[in-house]
Amino acid sequence: MSHPDEADLALIALGEPASAADAAHLAACSRCRSRVDQLGAVVSTARTITDEDRPVAPPAAVWEGIVAEAGLTGAQASVTSLDQRRRRRGPVLGWLVAAAAVGVLAGATLTTVLGSTGGTGSSDDAQLLATAPLEPVAESAYQGTAAVEQRGAESVLRVSVPDLPAVEDGYYEVWMATPDASTMVAIGTLNPGEEAVLTLPVGMDTAAFPLVDVSVEHFDGDAGHSAVSVVRGLLPA
Ligand SMILES: [Zn+2]
Repeated sequence: MSHPDEADLALIALGEPASAADAAHLAACSRCRSRVDQLGAVVSTARTITDEDRPVAPPAAVWEGIVAEAGLTGAQASVTSLDQRRRRRGPVLGWLVAAAAVGVLAGATLTTVLGSTGGTGSSDDAQLLATAPLEPVAESAYQGTAAVEQRGAESVLRVSVPDLPAVEDGYYEVWMATPDASTMVAIGTLNPGEEAVLTLPVGMDTAAFPLVDVSVEHFDGDAGHSAVSVVRGLLPA
């Protein structure tokens, strides 16, 4: 399925009317609807920022971090046109929306950005340690993201695979594994349509288990991996 581009979804989240084609697509595509919802959350956050909080522009290092984290090339990372289209809304929304438009949503990165500029972002002190795209495995057509965060003393794995359908007589399990997948640790359940926020076992060396895998499991009492994976991704060291 071809999806509307991120800039259009960002504009819809800002309250611009959707084109007929985009509206029809959104009616049919839960992945894009949830993206608009996420972008809407970014916009809401941005609108709570007062003039006192308002930075003129993101520090270059922050933007470079966003670009690096999102794994973008120069062309994809260009924000000029979107920024110009949105200029009348002011610099904060301009770059927030631009950041959102390249796929950096209301997660830990934005929290960090707002926090670093003295903004009114979430009081959550989550620190993003690593992120990875989750790519389709075998016949799967699904994609998602994984992120490891430090929240105080806890490490948390966040996993989102927006389009996952319900499993008949089963469920999705999130695993972390050694790079060769020879040793796998079951981390928790991912329900379709939800983001899994999973506390990692204290003492687990996440660097030794950088492979994030989501499998289809059945209510069969077998605690091992079913060997049917839908997405997989490797967290950077
Ligand atoms: Zn879509």
